[in-house]
Amino acid sequence: MQELRTSTGPQAVAVVGAGPSGLAVARELERAGHRVTVLEERDTVAGKCQSVHVDGHAYDLGGHICTNRYERLARLLNELDVETERTSRYRVLDSAGRALRQSMAFLRDGGLERYRALREREFPRIGEPGLAHSARALAAPVADWLAEHGLRSMAESFGTGYTAAGYGHLDDDIPALYFVKYAEMTGLLDSGPELLGHPGDFTVVGGFATLWRRVAEELKDVRCGVRVTSVERREDGVRVHTDSGPVEADAVVLAVAPDRILPVLDATDEERDLAARIRSNAYHTTLAAASGLAEDAFYFLAAHTTSRETAGHCVSYHHRYPGSDVRTFYSYGRPDGVIPMLREDVTALGGRLEEVHLRREWAFMPHFGSADLRDGALDRLDALQGRHRTYYVGGLPAFELVECAVAHAQDLARRHFPAAGTGEPSTGT
Ligand SMILES: Cc1cc2nc3c(=O)[nH]c(=O)nc-3n(C[C@H](O)[C@H](O)[C@H](O)COP(=O)(O)OP(=O)(O)OC[C@H]3O[C@@H](n4cnc5c(N)ncnc54)[C@H](O)[C@@H]3O)c2cc1C
Repeated sequence: MQELRTSTGPQAVAVVGAGPSGLAVARELERAGHRVTVLEERDTVAGKCQSVHVDGHAYDLGGHICTNRYERLARLLNELDVETERTSRYRVLDSAGRALRQSMAFLRDGGLERYRALREREFPRIGEPGLAHSARALAAPVADWLAEHGLRSMAESFGTGYTAAGYGHLDDDIPALYFVKYAEMTGLLDSGPELLGHPGDFTVVGGFATLWRRVAEELKDVRCGVRVTSVERREDGVRVHTDSGPVEADAVVLAVAPDRILPVLDATDEERDLAARIRSNAYHTTLAAASGLAEDAFYFLAAHTTSRETAGHCVSYHHRYPGSDVRTFYSYGRPDGVIPMLREDVTALGGRLEEVHLRREWAFMPHFGSADLRDGALDRLDALQGRHRTYYVGGLPAFELVECAVAHAQDLARRHFPAAGTGEPSTGT
């Protein structure tokens, strides 16, 4: 099979997955004059950015916090005229239930200067979309990397939030790449521009899914509740078989984790080998009412974010709306352990878990381990872009944050699909 040839005519593209990556790539392709069909297995778009309503309030189950590094998102929100608001403040809850400010020792003890010098020398492209460019330099397990470079205060300042957000514990065997990308995206390592009039972090009024519904509404062909049964790639095109008929295309964009789509893909040995190396974290959101807990902030639970020994316990909760006792709680672990452990944790904090509205489990943060990064797994994934008429976007090549997913997806579309009729790459303007 060959790489897709550059053509000045409009391409027909099937996009599998209607999360932020799939919708961003589809929007970009349509704006460049291509014909896009988006196929989503769930009944709604938005992927890991789902929102639900309880008692008239919108609650985000997944992605929703944007920092001053979210420039692509800000542009999208602006173009679609979606209303934003600042997010809740952050607090660390110690084991006695006292609310403290996050330690920012790193920004004061010379760590930031040491980090910047190291970044300049070893991974200067970390701020750019994608991960492959910095993967080998940051392949070491994060705890080893922090110790080697005298950056332990970086763990104190960013580790709690990192673990609370689902990326694992710092004593897990997770490569430094992911911790460093997360720290960069908080916007605290470099001062960034004020976005959409917000001096700090912001989110979407009425739930983050509002944005993705708006993106989908503008696209011509988004099909939800569709099961892809097989993907057949030939010399002359791609046929995506679904339970509601086949979709013919010139190319397919897989906006889902490769290991999830593998069972229906006519996969090559290289695709199978890479997919077998992908790991993800079992991370849960529980939307529940609770009384007697601290309010009006996003709380990181220090007792459960310092070591993987406590995995399964609640790592954070968000109380978003004054006057409501509903909170979103976040934990790792086995599905059947989440609610009993949450009940214990709420009691230990002096509160009481009341009605549980729902629990959602995510295969969070598709990633490679240290040895695979060192061996160039992300370069291999990059080398597959365009081979067999297939492209890969999403958290694996980009990192599991909305801005990272969107920026990588937009750039991929602009690089590989010239604007129809011009032969020039799409500018995205
Ligand atoms: C609890 C939680 C909190 C988060 N908080 C933040 C945050 O505050 N800020 C932030 O920037 N990011 C956050 N994220 C991360 C963010 O949500 C993700 O990075 C982003 O949604 C990734 O987008 P994606 O399109 O690559 O993947 P996804 O959002 O996972 O979308 C993939 C889509 O593909 C569909 N799909 C899968 N398999 C198939 C198939 N075979 N056929 C058809 N469709 C399929 C899925 O149903 C889904 O709709 C959070 C995520 C979670 C889970």
